[in-house]
Amino acid sequence: MEKAISELAKLPGIGRKSAQRLVFYLLKLPKYEVQQLADALYAIKEKVNFCTICFNITETDLCHICASDKRDRTTLCVVEEANDVLALEKTGEYNGLFHVLGGALSPLEGIGPNDLHIKEMMTRLNGTIQEIIIATNPNTEGEATSLYLEKLIKPLEIKLTRIARGLPVGGDLEYADEITLTKALEGRVVL
Ligand code: ZN
Repeated sequence: MEKAISELAKLPGIGRKSAQRLVFYLLKLPKYEVQQLADALYAIKEKVNFCTICFNITETDLCHICASDKRDRTTLCVVEEANDVLALEKTGEYNGLFHVLGGALSPLEGIGPNDLHIKEMMTRLNGTIQEIIIATNPNTEGEATSLYLEKLIKPLEIKLTRIARGLPVGGDLEYADEITLTKALEGRVVL
């Protein structure tokens, strides 16, 4: 019991109390349902990889977006996490490509440029990409990351925009609703 509670309590957004509640809930479930959950969790690490181009999550070598021939290959939207790809895809307003950085710059947590997929992003800017939309979170780390990318990309003379309007400052992209995100995409500003 104690082991299960302390493992669950390590998950983001789950404190000890919630972990306890979950464990008691699981205790009441039939054995096969708990097994299904455990199998699904295990499969995440066994089957799910990161796309070799954009670092979105995928069960194959390339994610469905990179592999698609229906996407606009001239626009690249840079996000922090694969969750953000999901959130922006839900708006149905964006048809370009993505690049997942795998986090944001944070000197406090010791996360520097080399810890993010920034080098891989730069290698993608080889002539096809005409616009880069920076969609990092509207918080301190997201802003720092945006500034850093701006400095890197500016000399390349590629149109550079940043989503902005309507997003709550300090918030997280993944928690924004679809309308807010759509507005933020439409209202992106040139950097
Ligand atoms: Zn991809």
